[in-house]
Amino acid sequence: MHRMDDIASPRRTKEIIQRHGFSFKKSLGQNFLIDQNILGKIVEAAGLDSTKGALEIGPGIGALTEKLAQEAGAVTAVEIDQRLIPILQEVLEPYPHVRIHHGDVLKTDLDALFAEDFANVSKVSVVANLPYYVTTPILMKLLEEKLPLENIVVMIQKEVAERMAASPGTKDYGSLSIAVQYYSEPELVCIVPKTVFIPQPNVESAVIRLKVREQPPVEVDDEKFFFQVVHASFAQRRKTIANNLKTRFFPKEGREQLESLLHAAGIEPSRRGETLSLQEFATLSNVLLKGGVTS
Ligand code: SAM
Repeated sequence: MHRMDDIASPRRTKEIIQRHGFSFKKSLGQNFLIDQNILGKIVEAAGLDSTKGALEIGPGIGALTEKLAQEAGAVTAVEIDQRLIPILQEVLEPYPHVRIHHGDVLKTDLDALFAEDFANVSKVSVVANLPYYVTTPILMKLLEEKLPLENIVVMIQKEVAERMAASPGTKDYGSLSIAVQYYSEPELVCIVPKTVFIPQPNVESAVIRLKVREQPPVEVDDEKFFFQVVHASFAQRRKTIANNLKTRFFPKEGREQLESLLHAAGIEPSRRGETLSLQEFATLSNVLLKGGVTS
């Protein structure tokens, strides 16, 4: 009888939780969605169809998973909490193209998982209401491992979403904006109130879509060094770029050499890191590397 309701309806969510004696673990970022409208917006933003696959991280009791199963040709969900596995098996039993993996997504070999679960779909998107305590490590793993992804559509803290999508010269712009924008085109889908979750989180939320790029938009000679330059440039936000880079790469002397390299890259040494575009960081790291600066 209970299948008549959507999993995400507050009534059915409570019924499932009570029947299984489930208690929420704050330490695992467990805030479940109970709003059909928001679930619909998340799934719609991913642009799925039966030829495509979806990877969900942290399915909880399967509210979003069920929606994904109705749209995508293959769905894989990775859940860390063993107590949720029997619940997921029960609620997703009508969908044979859904696979549940028990594990920590940060320790999961995603290349192997993709080869195994998504061999028969043309494109894969990550779609998730992420556990907020590990938002950045999860997203950086997905982007840095250069998985063959189309979109990443995720519910995250509003403040983190704003940092990811920020433009140069704004207070939110920093190394996270640059890392995310190097690998993807971020777009804020919607701001989400606390009332659509049980239990309600302490922070405001937002859905963001990262359209994964096939190629980075700038030419970088050494990616590892590029990100070292970016991190060093934001080490102390109120310092100039010259001072931050000096501390990191020229701890003893070499101020003149550094300033001439900055000029060669077309960057005034008195500027702050937060004013540099992605292209300027790329040019700067290439010029520093050619000038013999290393990590
Ligand atoms: N998708 C469900 C929903 O929207 O109602 C639940 C989302 S809840 C915000 C986050 C989920 O991620 C929880 O089910 C939690 O147990 C799971 N989780 C937390 N850390 C994880 C990790 N490292 N790997 C996989 N799942 C994780």
